[in-house]
Amino acid sequence: MDAIAPAAQAADTLAASYFDGVVAKAHPVTLRLVDGDLEIAGQGIDRCVHAADVQWPERSRHGLRVTHFASGGSVQCADASAWDAWRQHSGQRESWVVRAQQSWRSVLVSTLLLVVMGTAVFNWGLPVAARAVVAMTPHSVDATLGQASLNAIDDSLMRPSKLLPAEQTRLRKAFEKALSAQPPDSVPPWQLVFRKSRMGANAFALPGGTMVMTDELVELVGADDKVITAVLAHELGHVRRRHGLTMLVQATLLAGVTSVVLGDFSTLLAGVPLLLGQASYSRDAEKEADREAVRILKAAGISPEVMVTLFEKLQQKNIPATDDKKDSPASPGESPWLGIAFASHPSDAARIAFFTQAARGMQPSP
Ligand SMILES: [Zn+2]
Repeated sequence: MDAIAPAAQAADTLAASYFDGVVAKAHPVTLRLVDGDLEIAGQGIDRCVHAADVQWPERSRHGLRVTHFASGGSVQCADASAWDAWRQHSGQRESWVVRAQQSWRSVLVSTLLLVVMGTAVFNWGLPVAARAVVAMTPHSVDATLGQASLNAIDDSLMRPSKLLPAEQTRLRKAFEKALSAQPPDSVPPWQLVFRKSRMGANAFALPGGTMVMTDELVELVGADDKVITAVLAHELGHVRRRHGLTMLVQATLLAGVTSVVLGDFSTLLAGVPLLLGQASYSRDAEKEADREAVRILKAAGISPEVMVTLFEKLQQKNIPATDDKKDSPASPGESPWLGIAFASHPSDAARIAFFTQAARGMQPSP
C-alpha cells in the first residue's frame, strides 16, 4: 500500500515566494510559465504577469533568484539550480551574453581575442593609422618639427663642430656626388650639419631632411667619405620615407589612445622633442632605410660593404649598434636623442649579413 506521497512538483512548475510589492510579506506560491507569461498561484493569489512585464535576473552561479515585475511585485527562489532547471524546461533561453559569461571557455577565448586585437592594433593598426596621418600632413610640418628639434638638440646635447669647413664641404660633396646618380625628383630636400656631441659617434636625420653627423663619427671612420656616404644614404632613407614624422605621429596616437583609456592626458602634453628622443624607429623602418642605402650606394658604384666597416668600427669601440636602450636607459642630462640615432638599430649581425649579401657581385669600390 503506497503512502500518499506529497504531490511531486511537476517539472514545469516551481515553488517560490511571492511579494505583492505593497506589503513586505512572502507568500508561498507555485510558478508556471505559459507562452512566456508567468502564472503565479498560491493561497488567495492567482496572478498572471505578461511576459513583457517580467524582468528576468541575469543568471549567476549561486545565490537567490529574484524576478521583478514592471507592474509591481516580485518572486524569488532560494534554490538557484531548481530555478534554472525550471526555466530551461519551460523553454526559456538566456541571452548569449549570459551563456558566454557562464562558460570559462568563452571567457578565456574572449580574453585571448582581446589580447590578439590589442596586439593587432598596436602592431598593425597604429602604423597604418600613422602612415595615413603622415600622408595627409604637408611636408612643411616635417621641416618645422625638424627645426624645432635641431634647436632643442643644440641647446642641450651638441656643440659647434670642430671639423674644418673644407673637410665638411668635402664630405658633403661626396654625398652629393653619390646622389647625382639618383633619378631626378627622387631625392628629398636635405641638409647635412656637423656637430660636436656629448653622445659620441653618431648620426641621425630629423624630420624635414636635416641630417646631423657628429665629429666623433667622422673621426671613428677616419673621415672615409664612402662610409660617411653610406651612413648618410641610410639617414636619407629615413627622410625620404618620412620615418621621423611617422614615429612622432605613432607615438602621439599611442599616447592619445592610452590617454583615452586611462583618462590621463598629461602624456599628450609631454611634447614632441621628448617623443623624438625616446622612441626609436621600428625594425621595419630601419630595414627600409638600409634598403634605400643599398640602392643609393649601388647606383653610385659604391659597395654596400662599406657599411660593414662602420659596424666593425662601432663594435671595436664597443658602441652598440643594437637597440639595447631597455638595459641602459638614458639618464636625464645624458643623450635622450639616442632614440633616432644611428646606433639604435636592431641586430648588427643581421645588418652586416644584409650589407654583405647586397655587396655580392659588385666589384670592391676603388
Ligand atoms: Zn636608422
